[in-house]
Amino acid sequence: MDIRETLVEAGKRLLGEGLTVETWGNISVKDDQGLVYITPSGMDYETCVPDDIVVMTMDKKIVSGKRRPSIETDLHLGVYRARPEIGAVLHTHPIYSNVFAAMGESIPLGICDESAQALGDTIKTADYALPGSLELAENCVKALGNRANACLLQSHGAVCVAKDLKGAFKVAKVLEMTAEIYYRIRAIGGSFIPISAENIKAMQSYVAESYGQPKDVL
Ligand SMILES: [Zn+2]
Repeated sequence: MDIRETLVEAGKRLLGEGLTVETWGNISVKDDQGLVYITPSGMDYETCVPDDIVVMTMDKKIVSGKRRPSIETDLHLGVYRARPEIGAVLHTHPIYSNVFAAMGESIPLGICDESAQALGDTIKTADYALPGSLELAENCVKALGNRANACLLQSHGAVCVAKDLKGAFKVAKVLEMTAEIYYRIRAIGGSFIPISAENIKAMQSYVAESYGQPKDVL
């Protein structure tokens, strides 16, 4: 599937899976040539078509598409510049993640095996800055650091990154599930037993090296 079509489908998925509401949130993919494909600003995901996707260079020169790109273009480009291994950025506005984003709290990584395996090393909340600002882009890059696959944006939403779009959706789903578990633990006045740093490291190594089927049988 063409990258533009993939992004249109991803927009519908973002909405359908409750990872955002209305036109909020945005999605981008970086191709092999270093071109960034990004969803247009403020357009309805249901009516968005491949021609609405904007294609630009890493220094923000538009090479294709007539629409105005997402308001968070600088945030997406900032992440790609800081983390060359990243190939997809998903900016979501999910409910449970936003509970902690509104409180300006981090979510502990070691709540469950899924978060420990998929989310990198931290789930921090980036300091508040206005939507679309360069400051927000900088705060987000700082919160992600070198290894996190997700962070929260204070009073705003979440940013999920991976080497491809499929991976970014996995991160988004695991992040929201983790936030919901953490919310529920706190709602009943409970506490959780954190998975040890040693076990988190062991799981991440296993996932990187041995999990799933060998590449040649897929
Ligand atoms: Zn947003």
